[in-house]
Amino acid sequence: MSSNQNLFERAQQCMPGGVNSPVRAFKSVGGSPFFVSRAEGPYLFDVDGNRYIDYVGSWGPMILGHNHPDVLDAVIATARQGLSFGTPNPLEVEMAEFLTQLVPSLEMVRMVNSGTEATMAAIRLARGFTGRNKIVKFEGCYHGHADSFLVKAGSGVLTLGLPNSPGVPAAVADLTLTLPFNDLEAAKALFAAHGPDIAGLILEPIIGNANLILPRAGYLQGLRELCSEHGALLIFDEVMTGFRVAPAGAQSLFGIRPDLSTFGKIIGGGMPVGAYGGRADIMRQIAPSGPVYQAGTLSGNPVAMAAGLAMLKALQAPEFYGRLTEATNKLCQGLTRAAHESGLPFTTNQVCGMFGLFFANEPVETYEQAKAADTARFNRFFHAMLKRGVYLAPSAFEAGFVSIAHDQAVIDQTIAAARASFAEIA
Ligand code: PLP
Repeated sequence: MSSNQNLFERAQQCMPGGVNSPVRAFKSVGGSPFFVSRAEGPYLFDVDGNRYIDYVGSWGPMILGHNHPDVLDAVIATARQGLSFGTPNPLEVEMAEFLTQLVPSLEMVRMVNSGTEATMAAIRLARGFTGRNKIVKFEGCYHGHADSFLVKAGSGVLTLGLPNSPGVPAAVADLTLTLPFNDLEAAKALFAAHGPDIAGLILEPIIGNANLILPRAGYLQGLRELCSEHGALLIFDEVMTGFRVAPAGAQSLFGIRPDLSTFGKIIGGGMPVGAYGGRADIMRQIAPSGPVYQAGTLSGNPVAMAAGLAMLKALQAPEFYGRLTEATNKLCQGLTRAAHESGLPFTTNQVCGMFGLFFANEPVETYEQAKAADTARFNRFFHAMLKRGVYLAPSAFEAGFVSIAHDQAVIDQTIAAARASFAEIA
């Protein structure tokens, strides 16, 4: 038995499904996961000594590639001073200053420990600030696993076909209204019916949890206007897109100023971190300056702050995002060409360091179209690529991530593996 198999057998005895987060278990693509012992640049290495080109990047944070020396050095140097103090520390101030300077809509920010915590706190704040109870989310968007968001969610919920989770009281789920993404008329109708009850509307400005879906021209602006008109807060969940699609996130790419934003992944440099922030008048409602309660034993942890700051600073290098965009474009163009050579229906969506692959004939602009793509074919493609040393997300409903360490040789190798994989599954 391989070390991978042995570990998965052991894991299944003592961990639900053998994993600590559902999509890792390969349930939708079939087979069993591999266990990673080391990662470097664009590569993962498993316990059986296999090397994989990695397009998951720890689900987003690893935009510099794995084990980047700046991040590693910052973590080691900071850890030597102590792992956690439970008092204010200088690095959390530096982080807050850095974030508020980088993202114009962030006038104040609060650090937390995950994306889930960030979105959970953001909607509590929206409810506390507006005195209203309902929130609006979009079909296929994933905002972490808090009760209010497990309604028509994306990511693992969608991958595993769990429309809503047992354990979420109906009384809570009833306060979450849902909308189809990229349909402004539907949003107008919902606000016309429920406007005075809506505390906030939360969305991934670019959906990365139902594969990758981009907003249509003017759509986000339309949502901004609707929220302003009805006194509801516009909340951009940039846990995935923040500092990945542009230096100041999707909001800078589309020129929208949300009232609140949430972040995670990249801002922790690979350590467990989240953040939420926005308009100062709203953020001042958070305890201890205001009455809306939210706290955290490890929030603003110095080692996590050091990792995130080192990563964010490295992203300020000239032409960083241009180079990342170029790498993603080369990858998507090469994959599309190779798929079409095998006569397969295939299309991609991409933005800077994110991409989505669809076995579909038409460009994909909606959640319904993403769901209608050939996921069974994706599952076979996933395994064909894995066999050739390329690791894509083990689900047809997750975006892929390119890092700056994915150079031309790595992209060429990926496209060669894809050409053989497409021929195999055609
Ligand atoms: N929001 C978005 C857009 C995400 O993609 C995720 C996780 O993938 C989350 C929130 C939840 O973040 P975490 O897994 O850190 O709790």
